[in-house]
Amino acid sequence: MSISKVLVTGATGRTGSLVVKKLQEKSDTFVVRGFARSLEKVEQLYGTTDGFFVGDIRERSSLQGAMQGCQALVILTSAIPMIKAPPQAGQRPEMDFAPGEMPEAIDYYGQINQIEGAKEAGVDHIVLVGSMGGTNPNHMLNKIGNGNILIWKRQAEQYLIDSGIAYTIIRAGGLLDQPGSKRELIVGKDDQLLTHPPDGIPTSIPRSDVAEVVVQALSQPSARNKAFDIISKPENDRNETLAIDFAALFTQASAGL
Ligand code: NAP
Repeated sequence: MSISKVLVTGATGRTGSLVVKKLQEKSDTFVVRGFARSLEKVEQLYGTTDGFFVGDIRERSSLQGAMQGCQALVILTSAIPMIKAPPQAGQRPEMDFAPGEMPEAIDYYGQINQIEGAKEAGVDHIVLVGSMGGTNPNHMLNKIGNGNILIWKRQAEQYLIDSGIAYTIIRAGGLLDQPGSKRELIVGKDDQLLTHPPDGIPTSIPRSDVAEVVVQALSQPSARNKAFDIISKPENDRNETLAIDFAALFTQASAGL
């Protein structure tokens, strides 16, 4: 099998860094590059800046060098909600986005910059991690800073599908910082896992499992041109590590938004 050069954006993010580390462990199959906006953060996380490119997805030109020679791109960037002001006692904190970092700029135009940059560089597969909930304009995440984050993410997904590049769109449920490979995974579509959740199954998934789905999607042909929602069953009682049949999992998913 030939070695594939993969660029991971959001490489200093919580899921992006897990993907980078998993790909680094598979050096017989992948050469991984990371794209981040802070080299200090890269150094802190990885102990080196070798193989990392610094830039801002809002500026397409800053992505050019990183994309050159890559066969695949993993998009793991996102607008990041932050606390606007300290909450009053008993109140939920009010959330907003930093100036210039609204979802439209990051999750729509920032993703378009990545998709167009990949097209120019001849990248042949894009794996995009998004979020469930984008079919519901009234989802509480859309209300943060009036940013419509899930709506913009979904529009970028459609842009990717229309781009002509092979795609895998992974719309995760609520992300957990829990160990991976301990839970069975369930795929769905159109937020049906949110509107009709299977009995007793929370609509969440560990970041580590999402990262593994990304890595598997890079090599499984059945993951190409698929878009799906994904959650996990609760952790098994015996704390066993599961061998998941990813080819079969991707086969359950379908093309189109
Ligand atoms: P995260 O930790 O918030 O990482 C987001 C990354 O985007 C960070 O590395 C950030 O850089 C980078 N970024 C933001 N703006 C950028 C810019 N202008 N230029 C370059 N990089 C930029 O992500 P996560 O929580 O692991 O989530 C991964 C994905 O899953 C996201 O799309 C998220 O929306 C989605 N998701 C999240 C949840 C949840 O429960 N949180 C649920 C479902 C789906 P810095 O490291 O410098 O900040």
